[in-house]
Amino acid sequence: MAAYRLKQQLVNNMSEQTSQSERDEFREYCQRWLEENRPPPTKIPLPQNAYEVTFHDHRTYLCDWQAKCYEAQLIGTDVPQDYGGHGHTEFQAIASAEVRKANVPYFINWIGLGMTAPTLLIHGTEEQKKRFLPPIFSAEEIWCQGFSEPGAGSDLVSLQTSAIKDGDNWIINGSKVWTSLGAISSWMLLLARNDKDDKYNGITYFMADMAREGVTVRPIHKMTGESGFNEVFLEDVVIPDNHRIDDVGAGWKVAMSTLTSERGAAAGVGAVASSESPLTAVLQLIELAKTTKRNGITVWDDPVARDRIVNVYVRIEATMQNARRTRIKALNGGAMRLPLQGKVVGSEIAQELNEIALSVLGLKSSLYVGDEHAIDDGKWALGYMNTYTGTISGGSSEIQRNILGERVLGLPKTK
Ligand SMILES: Cc1cc2nc3c(=O)[nH]c(=O)nc-3n(C[C@H](O)[C@H](O)[C@H](O)COP(=O)(O)OP(=O)(O)OC[C@H]3O[C@@H](n4cnc5c(N)ncnc54)[C@H](O)[C@@H]3O)c2cc1C
Repeated sequence: MAAYRLKQQLVNNMSEQTSQSERDEFREYCQRWLEENRPPPTKIPLPQNAYEVTFHDHRTYLCDWQAKCYEAQLIGTDVPQDYGGHGHTEFQAIASAEVRKANVPYFINWIGLGMTAPTLLIHGTEEQKKRFLPPIFSAEEIWCQGFSEPGAGSDLVSLQTSAIKDGDNWIINGSKVWTSLGAISSWMLLLARNDKDDKYNGITYFMADMAREGVTVRPIHKMTGESGFNEVFLEDVVIPDNHRIDDVGAGWKVAMSTLTSERGAAAGVGAVASSESPLTAVLQLIELAKTTKRNGITVWDDPVARDRIVNVYVRIEATMQNARRTRIKALNGGAMRLPLQGKVVGSEIAQELNEIALSVLGLKSSLYVGDEHAIDDGKWALGYMNTYTGTISGGSSEIQRNILGERVLGLPKTK
């Protein structure tokens, strides 16, 4: 009943400022809803994060889960109703924080939610927002990101995929690589070069229909044994001009906006791409240390080991408190600062946490997923390898530090 009342209130109060008590009521509603609607585990465990979803059953399960969360107003919360949202500002951050805390399955359409939606909201036309946003929220259309190419990763502006205008259409030729979720996506955010002589102003931003003739997707297998990301080949692919985002030649500007959202997704709903929050992971690590014995005592009773674990715990708490500054304009230091900080520090903490877990396990850390003797089903060894993706994807840590230095701290540019 309370949930229903709140829903009505959300819709009615669209344009009004929210009070603290309304925010508290929404937070309680999210907590209760997540507790009551937690889905049962899948027969085959879900991959550690949404990058690796490949099984059909996992996909169906995760799409259903996301659709349910959308229906419950935990997704698209602060997006206008005309675009399929629930029309209430200020509540998305609360919903996202509660989803992360609740330890529920991740949202499969994390690229759609964390990159496409914010990009369209800033740069899309009215028609594009109305057409594309609702199926992003409901997970009816999964999205991937076609930015990186074999010769253009950190140096993204070197991308060579070409876009040639042909009447009301564009003809696309080239290839993309490391395309997460490419094999299960309906749409791709695509950067292509319309002018090879103008490095920055010669790039245009498109939405590419993955079902079009000329699109070939080839999965790439990682050292974890999992797949998820792909090579995508584009051969004479036709894209109608109304699937272009923003002006011809404005692609670099739009891409920077997408990347800011990607890096900043830590504070938004798109971030919920991982199966557990850092806080949950560190609590599991403590439990592991308390139940693993070495030299007659538990690892937790070894002051050196305990010191390392507590240090990570403190840093996780600090990053969570730091992220709260996004909600206070005077403290967030501009659009880039917190997202970049969050990405650099968060991805490195995740690596350290898994590395500590392996040292806690000692020799048993070599037992991997699928081995009946592996502790916690081998999740720490898998996590150790998986967390190396976090310091590369979305821009490597070195690049993030360069950007922080140059654009946030105002240091001289690197050559
Ligand atoms: C798990 C995963 C998922 C991904 N998903 C996607 C996706 O969905 N879509 C997509 O488009 N891309 C995706 N990527 C690609 C990702 O964006 C690139 O891997 C990343 O930008 C780095 O590019 P690169 O791999 O070409 O490395 P390179 O650019 O070749 O870099 C190699 C090394 O050199 C360092 N380096 C390069 N330039 C500098 C510099 N100027 N200063 C200091 N150090 C430098 C880098 O930090 C890195 O350590 C994904 C990557 C991973 C790992």
